[in-house]
Amino acid sequence: MIIDCHGHYTVLPKAHDAWREAQKAAFKAGEPPPPYPTISDDEIRETIEANQLRLIKERGADMTIFSPRASAMAPHVGDAAVAREWAMHCNDLIARVVALFPETFVGVCMLPQSPGSDLTASIDELRRCVGMGFIGCNLNPDPGGGHFKSPPLTDRYWYPFYEVMTELDVPAMIHVSGSCNPAMHATGAYYIAADTIAFMQLLEGNLFADFPTLRFIIPHGGGAVPYHWGRYRGLADMLKKPALDGHLMNNVFFDTCVYHQPGINLLADVIETKNILFGSEMVGAVRGIDPQTGFHFDDTKRYVDALEISDAARAAIFAGNARKVFPRLDAQLKARGL
Ligand SMILES: [Zn+2]
Repeated sequence: MIIDCHGHYTVLPKAHDAWREAQKAAFKAGEPPPPYPTISDDEIRETIEANQLRLIKERGADMTIFSPRASAMAPHVGDAAVAREWAMHCNDLIARVVALFPETFVGVCMLPQSPGSDLTASIDELRRCVGMGFIGCNLNPDPGGGHFKSPPLTDRYWYPFYEVMTELDVPAMIHVSGSCNPAMHATGAYYIAADTIAFMQLLEGNLFADFPTLRFIIPHGGGAVPYHWGRYRGLADMLKKPALDGHLMNNVFFDTCVYHQPGINLLADVIETKNILFGSEMVGAVRGIDPQTGFHFDDTKRYVDALEISDAARAAIFAGNARKVFPRLDAQLKARGL
């Protein structure tokens, strides 16, 4: 079995995107948003069948852990009520995709993390979504969109949310949204920087002493972290922190959204197999075909297939590790005899 831990609903029914524009315009005008449009199952089916489902089948995965389009989460837009309503509609759409294609998709929710607000609305939305069968969430370490004004992930500001994650036994992918900072390109600079920053925040703190079962996936191959693994091991030593394997690596996982073979080779060489989850982030950040290989950059299964590792290690990366990190997915699959 092959589980892609990182997929977003990036090609959406047009009425959904149009409503978001209307919601933003209404906020600007100081008016209530228009009612959310009726979207038929067929419209949802069309967007999925022409995009994610087609590619999942072509590339040979079985299942995608599916969340709302990351670049459009934009929790800084409007106010807390705007963020909350947008998150609910986006998550409801994911729930409908899962209901239409239950064998292929399982839901992960976005959160209404309006900057400056506490995490009460995010906790409510996480509970609501887990109640609908979702298995995790995307947690944004920088809801302001590229200025890093939020407290580090180890700050007590986040603790009420972690308490609920622990209670529900769901992990979070640490995932920023679009960049409002013209100095940072969203997917080329901001995403990778945020991944790296999140890891260093965790290194500097002692979060997993307080939450030993809390689990984070740092996407995009862990940002720059695996490439600079010696720097982080050395910094842990300098900062009088425990070695990384005990300090962070029972709780932190990296996906395989690294879009070339040498990058995946390095990831698998440096990071223990148990910490690597197969992911592609398709259809998403990089959509073209690599002229050097003739295959899509984000066809990451090919790179994992080509790794010189044991069959057991490959099976762990493709599915076993995801089932450990997402116990609610494991339970759902077991209930289906898988
Ligand atoms: Zn993503």
